[in-house]
Amino acid sequence: MVLEPVPGARCDSESYYYCYSFDRELEQEWTWTERYPRQPEIKAYLDHVADRFDLRRDIRFSTTVTGARADADGRGWTVSVQEGTDLHCRFLVTAVGCLSAANVPDLPGLETFAGRWFHTGRWPHEGVDVTGRQVGVVGTGSTGIQAIPVLAREAAHLTVLQRTPNYSVPARNGPLSEAESRSYKADYADIRAVQAASANGHPFVVNPQSALEVDAAERDGVYRAAWERGGLRFRASYRDLLADEEANETASEFVRDRIREIVRDPETAARLLPHDHGFATKRPPIDTGYFETYNRDDVTLVDVRADPVEAVVPEGLRLRSGAVHELDDIVFATGFDALTGPLLRLDPTGPDGTSLRSAWWDGPRTYLGLAVSGFPNLFTITGPFSPSVLTNMPSSIEQHVDWIAGCLAHLRATGADRIEADPGAEQAWGEHNREAADATLLPRAATSWYLGANVPGKPSVFMPYAGGFARYAGTCADVARDGYRGFRLGHRRAVA
Ligand code: NAP
Repeated sequence: MVLEPVPGARCDSESYYYCYSFDRELEQEWTWTERYPRQPEIKAYLDHVADRFDLRRDIRFSTTVTGARADADGRGWTVSVQEGTDLHCRFLVTAVGCLSAANVPDLPGLETFAGRWFHTGRWPHEGVDVTGRQVGVVGTGSTGIQAIPVLAREAAHLTVLQRTPNYSVPARNGPLSEAESRSYKADYADIRAVQAASANGHPFVVNPQSALEVDAAERDGVYRAAWERGGLRFRASYRDLLADEEANETASEFVRDRIREIVRDPETAARLLPHDHGFATKRPPIDTGYFETYNRDDVTLVDVRADPVEAVVPEGLRLRSGAVHELDDIVFATGFDALTGPLLRLDPTGPDGTSLRSAWWDGPRTYLGLAVSGFPNLFTITGPFSPSVLTNMPSSIEQHVDWIAGCLAHLRATGADRIEADPGAEQAWGEHNREAADATLLPRAATSWYLGANVPGKPSVFMPYAGGFARYAGTCADVARDGYRGFRLGHRRAVA
């Protein structure tokens, strides 16, 4: 069977809110078929939105932007594209995504591999058939955890090369009934209000109790109900799961117990137990039959923390010990150069010739995750130091788009043609980000891509804003209300 798109790829926010909220009719006319739809259904939705709002005439497809440089007066940008001539614009808005720069491990010998290799973020559009093949997967993040059960069903044998064991909660995916669709459509006003007031853009109210103020039996009941319901909502079981180590440990141990229960071979189960970080301090995956997959005779789990992958050889992967895993296909589910990577690959250059790469040599600096000092008239949708990947992404994207649209309208109305983040405001925002992250357990997960730890040599900076979506959106609204506090606005002088 041809696996297209990436095996197991689905959203992990639920469909009824992993979508736009800006149009009431759109909400009512589109009906999702599953709790977590596959990529083709999400693409069909985006196609529908593009057609419904007649967006295609404003989009140039199949165009690769290779660079952007600011005009010397900071009042415009020249954008270079691979296919055709340069473009010029007054304002440049990047929407390059947080997780779009693939992170392929720099392993010697990759070019000598006799089989096929893939990175999940660059999966061939025509799909891949692994039927009857010896397949190796490197990586057990959200992508690996989604892909492994599907690959195991199709391949002759699957070898999972695991560096850091991960927590995962069952997704409990399934079709949405007509009654369920009717119900969310009827409730949209309330759902959107809960999302807007939330810490992460999900329409769940977090249990206001501490995990430590109830007895073990009651807590176990709450976790069991959350496990049965499935999905990221598990995190909402208690208010302090991401703020208090002891509280977090109760959830971590609950998930470890489920792993011990599901995986029949005790040695394999032990290897799968996360031990170096707390539940959800790295981005928590949700799965369909992930831990159960290790009960198959044709699946092998290899600990590459103890014995790291050292090289690719023509037959497969060679570990430090010298052991070679013979493979026909290698699937790198090794994640992304997150948040900064997509912007640095674009590497815009400011009016004084400074590149973003040199401005960010020791880590990102932004004001509100929306703008960078030294780079006037540039807006970065879901940039570093905005809530982005800690939230339901459509919520964060819409909030940024609305804010930028409001800002551009303000500039036009006031005759301004230049806007730039003030370096002092940017520095204060960076400090506030650090404080917000340090108030949580998130920076303690040493191998987290939130910190850039997955990319060798990347500066260690906690990149998403951890102060909460509602608080952040409030700050952005206040900044606008205060006449774009922290930004310098420039007006072109009238020509005499
Ligand atoms: P990831 O979370 O960064 O996981 C990458 C995996 O590869 C980790 O297990 C990592 O191990 C391992 N790895 C990286 N380099 C390695 C090497 N040289 N040798 C051995 N192992 C190596 O990436 P991802 O799974 O693609 O997920 C990224 C994010 O995308 C998610 O956290 C989520 O935000 C998003 N996502 C969402 C969905 C969804 O909506 N359902 C699905 C997939 C992804 P270490 O942990 O030791 O670094």
